[in-house]
Amino acid sequence: MTIAGNLEHLQQQIHEACRRANRSDSKVALMAVSKVHPVEVILEAYAAGQRLFGENRVQEFQEKYQHLAALNDAQFHLIGPLQSNKTARAAELFHAIDAVDSLKIAQRLDAAAKALGKKLPILVEVKLSHEESKHGLDPAELPTLLAAIEPLESILAVGLMTVPPWSEDAELARPYFRELRRLRDQSVTSFPKLTQLSMGMSNDFQVAIEEGSTCVRVGTSIFGKRIMASAG
Ligand SMILES: *Cc1c(COP(=O)(O)O)cnc(C)c1O
Repeated sequence: MTIAGNLEHLQQQIHEACRRANRSDSKVALMAVSKVHPVEVILEAYAAGQRLFGENRVQEFQEKYQHLAALNDAQFHLIGPLQSNKTARAAELFHAIDAVDSLKIAQRLDAAAKALGKKLPILVEVKLSHEESKHGLDPAELPTLLAAIEPLESILAVGLMTVPPWSEDAELARPYFRELRRLRDQSVTSFPKLTQLSMGMSNDFQVAIEEGSTCVRVGTSIFGKRIMASAG
């Protein structure tokens, strides 16, 4: 299969999941997760019409970006954890930061975006599983974090993101997706801009769409298996 063929197949699967859930296709964005893969495959996906991309590491994307700067209608989001010493670079390179999980990072991004004269959309990553290795905010702290982010002028919290424990069986991810949606529905009454739900990956995106995902983050099903493990 080619990247163009994979993208087309995915759009079809997204369409079917939307139909099952009685949702409009236009409400679900497909993000191509290009971490670890070389610039060439990003260009290939771009040539096939893909415009939204996710990358995991600031350093890795900084190297790729020199070869991608001409793609001025492409959007690159950071979907991996962000260290505080990389916030300025991240605010400069990315169109959005989709895995903010602390006030400290939010404040540093706000200061960096302000210096760049930019308004930076962010998603708050919520940790719903009890796995040690997962990043994300404790859901009990969500209202406090959102209230603290609200007055920051150069970042805007537009939604929530989560990564459920990986499983062969996509159904096992459903309760996590449902919980993220519940948190969004609860929060949006106080924070009306907080509408997006970034959830669903190659193995479970159809379930995520049924549970309300507005952005599925798909790597393997577009670009194939990653050879090196991403250090995140
Ligand atoms: C790698 C990654 C993805 C894509 O995972 P696939 O299983 O390859 O589709 C999605 N989201 C995040 C946060 C990732 O790190």
